[in-house]
Parts: sequence; C-alpha cells; structure tokens
Amino acid sequence: MLRSRDAAPGLAFHDLGIQTSSVLCYHCGLDASISARAMTARCGACGKNLDIPDVRIKGHHWGGILVTCGRVSIGRKAEVTCTLAIGSLAADVLGRFSGVLVSGGPVTIGPKARFSGAVWAPSLRIERGASVTGGPFVVPCDPLGHITINGNGTQVPEPPPKRGAA
Ligand SMILES: [Zn+2]
Repeated sequence: MLRSRDAAPGLAFHDLGIQTSSVLCYHCGLDASISARAMTARCGACGKNLDIPDVRIKGHHWGGILVTCGRVSIGRKAEVTCTLAIGSLAADVLGRFSGVLVSGGPVTIGPKARFSGAVWAPSLRIERGASVTGGPFVVPCDPLGHITINGNGTQVPEPPPKRGAA
C-alpha cells in the first residue's frame, strides 16, 4: 500500500536528497530552480540556458555579453568593454567598465572605477572618486525579464521602465 507521502503531489527535489538552489533567471526574471552545483542550467520557468557561476573579471575583456545568475565583479585592475553585462544578484565595478550594466540587485561603482555606459538596476551606489559617464541610469528599476539577450551580443536592448513610472 502506498503511503500518502510517496504519492504526495508537488514533491520537491530536496525531499529526495537532491539539493536545489533558487536562482533568479536573467532572461525572464523568475525563479529558476536548479540543482545546487550546476555550472549551467536551464531555467525552469522560461526554458532558456543560464550561466550560474559569478563573473569575475580581473584583466582585459573585450566584446560580447557577460551573464550570470550570481554577481558580476569587475576588479580594480580590470578593463572591460562589452555590449551588456548582467548579474541577477548584484554587480560591482572597481576598475574600468564600458557597456550596459544590468543587475537584479544593487550596483556599486567603486572609488577608483572609470565607468562609461548605462546602468539598469534596483539601486546604484557611486563611491566618491569614481569617474562615471554615459547613461541612461535607469534606477530604480526591475530590469530582469525586460531584457532580450542577443546571443552574439551585438544589439543593446531597450531599458526597462523605471520603477513606479506610469
Ligand atoms: Zn527564465
């Protein structure tokens, strides 16, 4: 005879001993439950592929898009030029960055940073001493789910509406 537990609908993976972690999908902005130690995964909500590990740039990086369900970190000595960088959780720029920076969480531009481009994020902190040019700075907004990520990274998408805007 089946015990009710065995037949329970909606049984979560962690009940079966497989660890899952909850990540924010940078395509659709929804919770994409994935297995805990995956490096890449498919979003459970929209079905698109996701890069899971944090993006940490310490040297030169040119071109394309940088995406992660975690945090984007541009190091103090880094020089990054890209079309688009997206971190679902947060982004920190301590060195040089040129491009559109999108985050589902707080963005920090450090005191020695030289930032040129746009920011779409719920919050933005610019430390004293930072050099910041470009724009627009669409803050606060909820950009995840409003971005069309072009695979070859040549097209800069339209920014999402500011939070609270009509
Ligand atoms: Zn998704």
